[in-house]
Amino acid sequence: MSEIVYLNGEFMPLEKARIPVLDRGFIFGDGVYEVIPVYSRHPFRLPEHLRRLQHSLDAIRLANPMTDAEWTKLTHDIIARNPGEDQSVYLQVTRGVARRDHAFPAGVKPTVFMMSGPLSVPSREQVEGGVPAITATDYRWLKCDVKSISLLGNCLLRQTAMDAGAVEVVLFRDGYLTEASASNVFVVKNGVLLAPPKNHLVLPGITYDVVLELVAANGVPHAVREVPEQEVKTADEIWVTSSTKEVLAVTTLDGKAVGAGKPGAVFRRVHQLYQEFKRKVMRQAA
Ligand code: PMP
Repeated sequence: MSEIVYLNGEFMPLEKARIPVLDRGFIFGDGVYEVIPVYSRHPFRLPEHLRRLQHSLDAIRLANPMTDAEWTKLTHDIIARNPGEDQSVYLQVTRGVARRDHAFPAGVKPTVFMMSGPLSVPSREQVEGGVPAITATDYRWLKCDVKSISLLGNCLLRQTAMDAGAVEVVLFRDGYLTEASASNVFVVKNGVLLAPPKNHLVLPGITYDVVLELVAANGVPHAVREVPEQEVKTADEIWVTSSTKEVLAVTTLDGKAVGAGKPGAVFRRVHQLYQEFKRKVMRQAA
């Protein structure tokens, strides 16, 4: 079965979807996006994803082309039209098609695109053994809270990780932890889970929020505060979190073992809480 996508009001096979070359998404990377994990055909934390989409649209001064009810219906429609119980829904809104000029065009309709593919979560081996990561300077722009489709910095950084045989690149700006190329980062030091605060230097991760809610509800010691680079490099545990990585332990950083070189006790507890939470939410949705 061919993958069915949505483009500007219509569903069609992926191969049929076309946009004009003057789309500002193509010319300028002028647009925003979301990625929503789907478990057993239920979108996970959809209202939160739609709230973040609104934040991104507000930040780039683009009117939301749909209401939350319309986005919700569309998300369920795209899931229904695609195979697989677990999917990953991708949606993107760009400023539309106009003659190339940096300033915003007047009276142009945004381009709205949505697709859904198979959800690939970490393998059992990755969950149980952890993954390698490297470090780099965060040289991206100063609006990392916006889920912009302009991802050149993230792509370049991610490729340095790939080139080094690593799964992610942990980023530091001015001596402090920000996030990774496509995930948020947590560290554990002396039994306390540390998370950098949400600000303009990091994407407000949906998984980040779930993790903090779970640790708060389950009495896991934690603090949200700036995390100096040195603290990351001497941490007992490092995790990356995202909608597709879920919660994943980093067991080597720049080739050196993190803590004991295997996923730590706090990771194992929170990974389990996350899996239980997912199952509970999905049962309620069913
Ligand atoms: N930071 C960046 C730069 C990302 O690309 C992602 C993945 N979308 C995240 C953090 C994690 O966000 P979420 O938990 O919402 O997937």
